[in-house]
Amino acid sequence: MGNTIRRALLMSGKEIEYVVTSNPPRGGMKYTYFTPDKKFVIQFFNNPENAADPAIHDRIQAIIGRYNPTVSEEKGGAAGNDERTAAYFSKCYCWPVDIVVRPEFGIVSPSYPENFFFGDNASQILQIKGKDKKSNWFTGKSRKYLNSSELGDFRSMIQMSILLSRAVRRLHQAGLAHSDLSPNNVLIDPRTGTCVVIDIDSLVVPGLFPPEVIGTRGYVAPEVLQTLGMERKKRKFPGIQTDLHSMAVLIYEYIFLRHPLIGPKIYSQNPEEDDYLCLGEKATFIENPDDTSNRPETLNGTVKNLGPYLEDLFIRTFCRGLHNPSERPAAIEWERGLVKTWNLIHSCSNPNCSKRYFILYDINNPVCPFCGTRIKNDTVLRLSFYAQRRGNPGRWYKVSEMIAENNTPLCLWNFYSGVFPDEKASDREVKAYIREKNGKYYLVNLSLEGLLSQDGSIVPAGYASQITGGTAFRLVRDKNSLLLRAELFSVK
Ligand SMILES: [Zn+2]
Repeated sequence: MGNTIRRALLMSGKEIEYVVTSNPPRGGMKYTYFTPDKKFVIQFFNNPENAADPAIHDRIQAIIGRYNPTVSEEKGGAAGNDERTAAYFSKCYCWPVDIVVRPEFGIVSPSYPENFFFGDNASQILQIKGKDKKSNWFTGKSRKYLNSSELGDFRSMIQMSILLSRAVRRLHQAGLAHSDLSPNNVLIDPRTGTCVVIDIDSLVVPGLFPPEVIGTRGYVAPEVLQTLGMERKKRKFPGIQTDLHSMAVLIYEYIFLRHPLIGPKIYSQNPEEDDYLCLGEKATFIENPDDTSNRPETLNGTVKNLGPYLEDLFIRTFCRGLHNPSERPAAIEWERGLVKTWNLIHSCSNPNCSKRYFILYDINNPVCPFCGTRIKNDTVLRLSFYAQRRGNPGRWYKVSEMIAENNTPLCLWNFYSGVFPDEKASDREVKAYIREKNGKYYLVNLSLEGLLSQDGSIVPAGYASQITGGTAFRLVRDKNSLLLRAELFSVK
């Protein structure tokens, strides 16, 4: 039977063509058709009652309009959003763009970008060409069947985690909750270190009737699972606090390729009951320092190996916050902690290391925790950046710390105070980088105006100046310049 092209009338007044197929992809709530150019998907509801439900209509209108971070405020999107932040966030989500009003109620969203589908050479064994990159392909048993070029490394997994926490932070900032963060709804591309949050139409919108979503096994917060069978007023429903649990489970899986709650502990002889207790009422973090009853005999890397920021975030989420949702750190804390951790990444000296990078937070012990290799450099360079206190010239405070090695890039936020590597950054280009040669370190200027050397002279673009340990110096001839202090540590 040939495919038929039909036309849909959209709420915006536009018309759009879509291809009707005999067996469209079908999820729990909706089924999906594509436009002929495959750039957009048109989704209709499985259940006509949902399609007719005014609460769903209101929610989706709010999502497309006043809560939409992918459209500027000027064009009807979220308050405070400008063109730059809208462009940034449109890469973070597949956000619905319009509503179908005829032939029946439905949703129009952009298709996932091409890099979130497996290509020709993704696997010699699995038939996955064209399948979307759900994270459990990469974190579960199928990982070993994927070609190594698909797998990314420790650094790209941290980068993806930063993007996920930023995407979730933006939702939460507006009071929205995703309500079902899981491998199915966050597609990842470890090769490029990017991710995209999908299934946006089940967002929990403030003041509007919430969607009937429970979540996905393994990612549902314990309190939701635990109260599932109870009467409505005792039940806990998905929201911002449950997103914080689900997001941390995803990040833990990206980094360690294992689930934070599924360990050797047996909670019940009945497998169904065991599963329910393991992820719900009795859930125990496999790395809980005070309760080791669920700790596997061996762990390849632990939260301790991730440095102080991530260790603290994981412990707060999976120990104190596991059964006490208000203790869970907010998405913005994850975003900040992940960025700080990113700055401490160092390459592993073992060419066969599966992770390729690790967090060098303990200068006295520069050993990759994943393969046990000690770094082969003679020295480690630590850069500390300081900003001037407002209204208090001459008083400086530390804003960030970085472990630098050969080719470590530096961007505007490494030179100026008040600039951050988030959606507001107007310029993400690499302005300079660190060059290491025979144990000496240089700051190479690519395109930064007014870059200063340690002795205060201008370093033009295309030139380099040596960085030695000790004296702190202003990086740029500008009142908003950061101060840099370099420290060289001998590791032999
Ligand atoms: Zn290693």
